[in-house]
Amino acid sequence: MFASLSCSSGNPNVKNEDLLKWHNYLLEKDQAVIRSLGKDVRGVIETMKAGPLRLGGIAKSYANHCIVTGDAAGMIDPLTGEGIHHAMEGGKLAAETLIDAIEAGNFSEEAMSVYHRKWMDRFGFDFGWSMAICQFLYRFPIFLDAATVAVQLKGNAFLARWADIMTGRVPKVHLLHPVFSVTIFFCLIYLIIKRTLTCSWGRVKID
Ligand SMILES: Cc1cc2nc3c(=O)[nH]c(=O)nc-3n(C[C@H](O)[C@H](O)[C@H](O)COP(=O)(O)OP(=O)(O)OC[C@H]3O[C@@H](n4cnc5c(N)ncnc54)[C@H](O)[C@@H]3O)c2cc1C
Repeated sequence: MFASLSCSSGNPNVKNEDLLKWHNYLLEKDQAVIRSLGKDVRGVIETMKAGPLRLGGIAKSYANHCIVTGDAAGMIDPLTGEGIHHAMEGGKLAAETLIDAIEAGNFSEEAMSVYHRKWMDRFGFDFGWSMAICQFLYRFPIFLDAATVAVQLKGNAFLARWADIMTGRVPKVHLLHPVFSVTIFFCLIYLIIKRTLTCSWGRVKID
């Protein structure tokens, strides 16, 4: 049996050594994982092997006669963990750059640097926003709950626009658009009131 667990980024203090703790915690305490794997999971599980994903893009993805793309270049969105389409797009840009280099007979570091600028302009610039949002949500997860309420409240059209941002089709900065920021703000207020009332009066239920 093979099981793959992934932990999202957000907490800048998490280290490789923490993975074992989370691995065991999920196996022993998380009801969904326990239900999926069964109670006697220890009998069928292999020794844990883990590796961190390189998130958010590397500062330099080129050198003389060298181009780095996909996961090796850290083309994984820190907020969503998605890297497949970035790897495909990065690979295409790398191929285009190499075609130009072959035609010009120039594989110098300067010629290869064109590739880095291309993928940064296409999608890499957004990774900084993703990392900032991710770390913000780690500290204030209630905003994620508020976003969930907003999606439930506003329906499919809102969800489609939300998905455009989350999949990188539209830059993350669009989350500041009033359609999102104002809606999520009001959902946040709603959640705070709801949780405060539930906490203070126990039985009060507002839905
Ligand atoms: C658990 C998990 C879940 C994920 N979920 C998602 C998701 O839902 N959506 C999403 O978009 N992304 C997801 N990702 C990220 C996504 O899988 C990667 O970003 C993407 O596959 C990167 O593509 P790549 O071509 O750069 O690298 P890879 O797909 O890793 O391809 C690299 C290839 O090189 C081969 N290789 C390595 N070393 C050598 C060598 N020395 N010689 C020859 N071949 C070699 C490897 O065997 C591999 O086939 C997930 C990743 C993980 C680990």
